[in-house]
Order: sequence, then C-alpha cells, then structure tokens
Amino acid sequence: MNIPLNKKAALLQISDQCVMCGMCAPHCPTYTKHHNEAESPRGRIALISALLQDKLPLSDQLKQHLDSCLSCRACEASCPSGVKYGELLDGIRAVQRAEEGASNPAKERLLKTLASGKTLRNSAKLIRLAQRSGTYALLSKGIERFIIEQPHISELLPVQLPARKNWDKQYPAIGEERGRISLFTGCVADICDQNTLQDAITLLTHIGFRVDIPTQQGCCGALHHHAGDTASSQQLAEANIEAFSDDEDQPIIHCATGCGAHLMEYRQQLNTPKANQFSIKVDEISHFLLSNGIQKLTFEPLNKPVSIHLPCTQRNVLKQSATPFELLELIPSLKSTPLAGNNHCCGAAGSYMLEQPQMAQQLRQDKLDALQQSQSQIVVSSNIGCAMYLAAGIRQQGLSVDVIHPISLLVRQLIH
Ligand code: SF4
Ligand code: SF4
Repeated sequence: MNIPLNKKAALLQISDQCVMCGMCAPHCPTYTKHHNEAESPRGRIALISALLQDKLPLSDQLKQHLDSCLSCRACEASCPSGVKYGELLDGIRAVQRAEEGASNPAKERLLKTLASGKTLRNSAKLIRLAQRSGTYALLSKGIERFIIEQPHISELLPVQLPARKNWDKQYPAIGEERGRISLFTGCVADICDQNTLQDAITLLTHIGFRVDIPTQQGCCGALHHHAGDTASSQQLAEANIEAFSDDEDQPIIHCATGCGAHLMEYRQQLNTPKANQFSIKVDEISHFLLSNGIQKLTFEPLNKPVSIHLPCTQRNVLKQSATPFELLELIPSLKSTPLAGNNHCCGAAGSYMLEQPQMAQQLRQDKLDALQQSQSQIVVSSNIGCAMYLAAGIRQQGLSVDVIHPISLLVRQLIH
C-alpha cells in the first residue's frame, strides 16, 4: 500500500503495542458471534499490521474483516496494554480510502446528506409529506433507492417524522440565571428527535441555565471520520468549532453520546489549540445535569421497571456508565435495571446497521430478547442511533416498549 511514511509509522506504533494476549476477545461482539480469530480485535490488529508492512494485500476478504468491525471500542476499553484500537482502525480506513477512493456510492450519498444540513432537511420534508399523505408505504422504495440510496432506512425512521421546529437562539433561565450553556443539536437528532432536545432545554432552564443554540452548527462528522473521509470530517469539525466559538468558557452540551464522543475527540483529530479548547468544554447532558443541581427539582414517582441501555460510546469512550442510573434515581419508586448484555453493541454503530444488516440484526435481537425477558415497558438510551435502531426492532416485533432518552423520562415526571 502506498502510505505516507509518517502515517505508517504512527499506525505501526499503535499495532506494535498489542501483545496478542487475547483479553479483549470476549468483549468483542463479532468474535463472540463468529469465534473466528480474524473477526477478533487481536486478529484485526494482526491483519492491519501485516497490511502496513506489505505482508498482505488489501484483498476483499481482508476488507470484509475490517468492515465487519463495529468500531464499538469494547476491545480498547478492556485492553490492559492500552492499545488505541479506535485510532488504528480509523487510521487504516483513511489509508484505504486514500488508496482506493470512495468505493460505496450509497454510503457516499449518506455522508453527503448528513454533511449538508439543507439536503438532510429537504429529504426529511419529502418523507414527512409522504408519511402525512399516506403515500409513504407506496413511495418508500423509491425514496430509499433514489433519494437516500439506503435500502433499510425506511425501517429505521419513526412511523411519523415529527414536524420540525426552528430553535430560538436563546432560551432564558427560569428564575435567577446561574450560568449559560451552548446546546449541540446534531443532524439526525434535529430531524427525528427534537423532543429530547426540547427536554434538555426544559431541564437546563429549570436549574437556572440560559441555553444558547448556535445557528451555524452542523453534523459532528463522526460517520465521516469512521469511514476514513478525513477531508469532510475535518471540515465539519472546523465548522462546529467556529460555530461555538462565541463564548470561550461556555460548556457545550450534547444529548447523543455518539456525537459527543466524537466532539470530545476533535482535539486528537485536528490537534490545534482551538480544537483542544472546544473539546474540553464538551459535556454529556445527564452528566452535566447531575453535576449542576438537577437534584433540586422534584419528580412524580413512577412505579414501573425501566431498562437502561448503555451505548458503546457512553461505556467505552465517555466512560460514564453510571450516569443514567444516577439520573433515574431522582425519580421516586422507579426501579431501573441494566439491559442484559449491555457489554455488547446493539448493532446500530453509526451506519453499520445499514451496511452490515445481518450482523447488526443478530446483535439487536439479543437486546430485544433481553427486553422481553425484563418485561420493562420503557427502555432508556442516551444515543439517538441506538434508540432509533432499537425502536425499529421493537416496532417490527410488535412489542409494547417505549424507547426514550433518560432526560425525557425525567421531564415526563417533572413537577413544575
Ligand atoms: S488489543 Fe490489548 S487486550 Fe487485545 S490482544 Fe492486544 S494487547 Fe491484548
Ligand atoms: S471495535 Fe468492537 S467489533 Fe471492532 S474489534 Fe473492537 S470489540 Fe470487536
């Protein structure tokens, strides 16, 4: 492979840190399903190392082993040697893309749609119109094929995309202002899940924060970065850094751990003082609320079992697995339990659910079975991608389970 020497050396330095102990294997969802070494973290690291040293060609089989990785980083979180697997995989994907160009037109279309707020909003308008007029079932194949170019996307979308509202630039604190935050609204969340964003505004203003919503913000670029599209992901990161640059000290709050994990890694990605300054201000909504006085609000009791789904980014990147449990403890009588199998990815994994539907569905089925066993009627998840993918599976199986963000459950129970 034709790899710049400094890039090759940096990636080899990461792969050389792997001592091949295999302790990550039981944490890897693809290894657990296949029991094939090439589908394990250790196997993939060995393949990447051989590729970097020109000991193996970039064959279709090798690509398949890399493509079937979920980028869930469970291996990284469990590795005693501190191997930065995520950086290695993203690095080799960028090399692969530079070598071969963009090889998947459908994925390119998706990345372009996400990067352009306008295209995303226009596509959503069309889908909303078709859903409202009752023609969506008829048009969905055409929409999937010609507009979004993703064969499984219709299954993922809510049955009725909510009407989109435009955000105000500012939402004043209720009562005395204690501080100000900037809210990151994301791309898909701002189309499919404005309720969660509204709930964040409700809780933040109730505990005395003014909420600012910078208008020039856009997609975080996580999917572009993990696809090796370095140019687009850098462009999106720089645009967001600029959009949030008005106030140097204002925390930047996100409501999706997938986006948040990437926002926090702008500093590694761009390695500039501005990116560093941006990333250190990023905080996850539940974590921020718990550290800033949510305890002073009162909530109606809820005498129902609630399952907590932990997204990979919350467990393995933010390392905040306890946060949703602590947050839901604020609701009297609520009995929260971890969803069985929380140590494994639900299969959503960015655009993985669209590209590797078979493996993704196997992993999701484990979650749906666990949900049925739990008999919970509510499951909370702090990441929009996981929530949409779980909700789609729940709909398909005809289960009666509500998938919501933990902060939305708090708002439902809030005593004003
Ligand atoms: S990635 Fe870490 S845990 Fe896995 S085999 Fe290598 S050193 Fe061991
Ligand atoms: S990122 Fe996840 S799927 Fe990929 S090798 Fe690591 S544990 Fe396995």
